[in-house]
Amino acid sequence: MRLSRYFLPILKENPREAEIVSHRLMLRAGMIRQQGQGSFSWLPLGKRVLDKVCQIIREEQNRAGALEILMPTIQSADLWRESGRYNDYGKEMLRIKDRQDRDMLYGPTNEEMVTEIFRAYVKSYKDLPLNLYHIQWKFRDEVRPRFGVMRSREFLMKDAYSFDLDFEGARAAYNRMFVSYLRTFTRMGMQAIPMRADTGPIGGDLSHEFIILADTGESQVFCDRAYLSLEVPGADTNFADDTEIGGIVKKWTTPYAATDEMHDEAAWEKVSEGDRLSARGIEVGHIFHFGEKYSKPMNAKVTGPDGKDHFASGGSYGIGPSRLVAAIIEASHDENGIIWPEAVAPFDIGLINMKVGDAECDRVCDELYASLTSAGKDVLYDDTDQRPGGKFATADLIGLPWQVIVGPRGVAAGEVEIKNRRSGERETLPIAEAKKRLG
Ligand code: ATP
Ligand code: MG
Ligand code: MG
Ligand code: MG
Repeated sequence: MRLSRYFLPILKENPREAEIVSHRLMLRAGMIRQQGQGSFSWLPLGKRVLDKVCQIIREEQNRAGALEILMPTIQSADLWRESGRYNDYGKEMLRIKDRQDRDMLYGPTNEEMVTEIFRAYVKSYKDLPLNLYHIQWKFRDEVRPRFGVMRSREFLMKDAYSFDLDFEGARAAYNRMFVSYLRTFTRMGMQAIPMRADTGPIGGDLSHEFIILADTGESQVFCDRAYLSLEVPGADTNFADDTEIGGIVKKWTTPYAATDEMHDEAAWEKVSEGDRLSARGIEVGHIFHFGEKYSKPMNAKVTGPDGKDHFASGGSYGIGPSRLVAAIIEASHDENGIIWPEAVAPFDIGLINMKVGDAECDRVCDELYASLTSAGKDVLYDDTDQRPGGKFATADLIGLPWQVIVGPRGVAAGEVEIKNRRSGERETLPIAEAKKRLG
């Protein structure tokens, strides 16, 4: 992509409304545009990151056996009357009327709708387990929308819903999502720690929030430092093997980790003092077993091997991709801007032409652009007539993992400079070597 043809509205000044670094950097890097309270458009650079985040989520959901669908954002209130949540949900729900004066709502979540799909088609235990997910916009009329896309009113969510015959099946489904989440966040270059979370009236111990530690996080969390060095399951993990998956969950739930609501001082005291991490955290994912909470009032039953009808046992599994983009920035930036982990970077390489119009610089840039692109790299080529200082500042701000700097002096010697955004290391290389290194 040539920057001269791209849409990258960089802000020179720090936007006053942004209280935290990710919000500031997303606005400055031209990733998002605020459209109203807690409502944002995703501009081209931001959209690329959001898409990469969603793609990783998708791959890991699929790997764990979940199936992608897409449900509407607007739902009928009647469905929510069936579960009893239409009245319970309160002011976070945006309620709408259509032209026939029917009560509608903009979905804050989809348990009811997915249960409606399930009960329409699934009648036998032989069709289980089933896990359906979608990646769709949600609306919650938050009391305090703030921090940009971190807590917005309209936001993207990946929400998966599992259906099983009994608790044992539901637990296995829960475990698969648990392990899938470990892989998902790690692939994005993040350390998310699964922490015991509130199960409310459902009870039991099957609720975990996946938390990224960050000073600007809104939750107070407590965990054992051991989590920082636990091994994350590889791509060869066999999701069909309940014992293997259960073993991983066991390992990842043994050291202490709890959110504020679940914090247990007595258990905490038993963690050796040097290993106690009491910190702020960002909830990027949440998995929850709720059993028959929806299947019972909505009459979603399957016939078991015993020939009898059973209410399906369910769970829901959310991730906030739009919040994640901000959380990644909170965890990975410096005073000059964003530092994208490679897997979610909007482009792999920023190619900087220091002297546009100089025949040799232009030629070398065109050559590098063609060669890196054909090697499968996404290159953002700064071919604008800005001064070099401005180009460097932009490149650092938008945080692409690598920069290739092409200037007249280097080119005369057949060389270019490459810079690693994370380490800041620079290296001068012959052009062919730079192609090989980054291609
Ligand atoms: P929070 O405690 O931050 O309000 P939640 O517990 O209400 O979040 P869930 O219902 O568990 O959220 O939804 C699943 C995921 O959706 C969350 O883990 C989070 O990543 C994301 N999410 C929830 N609310 C928002 C929001 N207002 N803006 C952006 N992402 C959100
Ligand atoms: Mg909430
Ligand atoms: Mg929460
Ligand atoms: Mg939650």
